[in-house]
Amino acid sequence: MNETFDILVIGGGINGAGIVRDASGRNLKVCLVEKNTVGSATSSWSTKLIHGGLRYLENYEFRLVRESLKEREVIKKIASNITTPIPFIIPYQKSLRPKWLIKLGLFLYDNIGGKMTIPKSSTINIKKEMPNILKDQFKIGFQYYDLQVDDKKLVQLNVEDAKKKGATIIQNRKVIDAKRNENIWDITLDDNTILKSKILINAAGPWINEVLSNVIKLNSNKSIRLVKGSHIITKSLYSQKKAFTLQNEDNRIIFVIPYKDEYSLIGTTETEVFSPENPKIDESEIDYLLNSVNKYFIKQISSDDVVSSYSGIRPLIEDFKEASKITRDYIFDLNEDGSKAPLLNIYGGKLTTYRKLAENVLLTLNKHIPINKKNSWTAKQKL
Ligand SMILES: Cc1cc2nc3c(=O)[nH]c(=O)nc-3n(C[C@H](O)[C@H](O)[C@H](O)COP(=O)(O)OP(=O)(O)OC[C@H]3O[C@@H](n4cnc5c(N)ncnc54)[C@H](O)[C@@H]3O)c2cc1C
Repeated sequence: MNETFDILVIGGGINGAGIVRDASGRNLKVCLVEKNTVGSATSSWSTKLIHGGLRYLENYEFRLVRESLKEREVIKKIASNITTPIPFIIPYQKSLRPKWLIKLGLFLYDNIGGKMTIPKSSTINIKKEMPNILKDQFKIGFQYYDLQVDDKKLVQLNVEDAKKKGATIIQNRKVIDAKRNENIWDITLDDNTILKSKILINAAGPWINEVLSNVIKLNSNKSIRLVKGSHIITKSLYSQKKAFTLQNEDNRIIFVIPYKDEYSLIGTTETEVFSPENPKIDESEIDYLLNSVNKYFIKQISSDDVVSSYSGIRPLIEDFKEASKITRDYIFDLNEDGSKAPLLNIYGGKLTTYRKLAENVLLTLNKHIPINKKNSWTAKQKL
């Protein structure tokens, strides 16, 4: 390939996919390189929600929740064929969060994102609306809505659209070296192809620092914490198309979500790991998830009920807090180093905020390639 790209993105997860879609729609010459197939890593191992992140309000992450709620509306509009609004019920548990706190959280959740087409929260009678599912002590609950999404498909749709708009998409090729020259990067793939790009974006998710030190050969000034999250899948625990948000005594919450018509998706956990490779659920995580469900549900489940499981790694920005309190927000690390070609490392992020993240990436690169804020387009055009 002799052409010089404006931007080359390492990593075909949701963040890389969103960036190449946005950039190709602005007539930039872009290339995405993914070592496996697009959307095959963290972006398909999620809880599959486009959500505001009700729980993050407890960590005072108002910026993130506001942006996520706004994005929930946008994604509902642009990806209506792969998203479904779904009610979540938080059973009231006297010994845990007080009613006033949950109601305050839901009031903020209903309002800080601005005008919403998704139904507002309400208090419900669990015994009447979801009879014979939860133990007798759970009589009332708080209902709010979020969106369920086909996470992998969301990545694929972004990539397909980018391709239609002229982006070069290379799958099953690993970036093994990136040499930084004045104004240009020489990027080597594992079949020895060399690509040239004016700007390099490292969107390798949990591999970000590995790519930075082994491929780009620069030191990172940001450290990340790799936190594994696992889900188990059982046959449907009940027939209604409603999900539960279950509070645990350790202050964490887990979800029980109807999944693919006949299953329940239960997750997630938070376990620190030291490698992004091949995450797998371990027994203590299965026990944790089973126990959480068994504290609430009449029907008791055991490991025999687990038909499948999957795990993913959250690349969280290290801020030396316990895993559930570390921010789920994203940070850009723009390395400009004089006249040398720029590098942008993307830390953190959520499926929910990928579109806005991509838009912000391009605006951040404005100094290096002409980007007009007025030409931002991805919030309007359907996937
Ligand atoms: C358990 C769990 C549950 C979650 N639930 C939700 C949720 O419900 N809602 C939500 O909004 N967010 C959720 N998230 C967060 C969300 O899934 C992630 O933030 C998002 O998927 C990260 O996308 P990414 O593009 O950064 O990373 P990835 O999807 O991991 O993509 C990075 C890609 O880089 C590729 N790569 C790495 N090195 C190279 C190389 N050298 N050359 C070429 N390619 C390379 C990898 O193969 C990979 O495909 C969850 C995360 C986890 C772990």
